[in-house]
Amino acid sequence: MYELNDKIKALTPYDPISGDYRIRLDANESFLAPDEKMMKKITAAVQGVAYNRYPDPAARKLRQVIGAYFDIDPQFITCGNGSDELLGVLIGAFLTAGDKLLTLSPDFSMYRLYGEIYGAGNVVCHKNEDLTVDVDRVLSMLRDDPKIRMALFSNPCNPTSKGLSALECERLIKNAGNCLVVLDEAYMDFFDENESFVRRVEEFDNLIVLRTCSKAFGLAAIRLGIAFANRRLTDALTAVKSPYNVNSLTQAIAAALLADKELLQSRTAQIKESRDALYEALTPFVGGTLKRVFAPQTNFVLLDFEEPAKARRVFEGLLAASIAVRYMGRYLRITAGTKEENKAVVLEIKRLLGIH
Ligand SMILES: *Cc1c(COP(=O)(O)O)cnc(C)c1O
Repeated sequence: MYELNDKIKALTPYDPISGDYRIRLDANESFLAPDEKMMKKITAAVQGVAYNRYPDPAARKLRQVIGAYFDIDPQFITCGNGSDELLGVLIGAFLTAGDKLLTLSPDFSMYRLYGEIYGAGNVVCHKNEDLTVDVDRVLSMLRDDPKIRMALFSNPCNPTSKGLSALECERLIKNAGNCLVVLDEAYMDFFDENESFVRRVEEFDNLIVLRTCSKAFGLAAIRLGIAFANRRLTDALTAVKSPYNVNSLTQAIAAALLADKELLQSRTAQIKESRDALYEALTPFVGGTLKRVFAPQTNFVLLDFEEPAKARRVFEGLLAASIAVRYMGRYLRITAGTKEENKAVVLEIKRLLGIH
């Protein structure tokens, strides 16, 4: 009989909430669907695709547009089928047998999953009680274990919603020695571009920065992630990725939409407004069951409850009202939605907490 190997035997598929819910605030998607002007561009873009041909493996046109958007030379850019694919490729190819991957906790759960799939030893550095990152603790772990060849974390972080300053990141990158630092900046659009390392990849020989079109740009459906790194790392990444990883429709649509930076930034601003409004509406509920609401630097708000059972009760109460959020132990993570969606989730939480 065919036996699955040990490393995959115990794995369970990534399971976002399935089912039909009136309000979806569980996946950190943008609540803004493309407007009419954007839809026109999308339609024109897909009409120009050469459907019988393979995609451009180098995504030349798209990388030029991305370069212009981020003000960086396209030679430092690699595109992926979502940043998810890039994470898998990085962990699979940049680590070899015996190498270890350092992740932080809490952080994006996919990192450790890929570590397990590709047989990397997972080393976890826990965050402080207030969910901030202790860079000294990370550095001392790196010094103690030269087998750690990659440190990977999201900045700002999913799920803590906190950003780590560029100064602290720089201290980590500079002192990481023979360890590659992968900064996943999926939510940087909502924080502060001055804290981003996208434009600084040439300064470091051990840095890869990831961005995605799934969050601020509202294009989760087309699957486009972007890696920024110096020439040597970009060449290596390009060599190991699957050649046709980004399909022609995605390349064409993204090239058309990312050319309008002003439009995308005005949409990001709307999401930030929604997030701030959601945070302000929820903070008065702190006290009793709800211990903390973290000041958000992403497009979602994290609530911290006294204990997992209390968070679970609110989560299930929301589901019963057909509102999906993300449940993670003591925490609930709620994506910023439309005004009506925010209002509905706030009212329901208020009711479930017994606040009058
Ligand atoms: C949502 C998210 C991504 C985006 O993944 P894509 O595959 O590009 O959609 C990456 N990293 C983190 C931390 C995320 O939360």
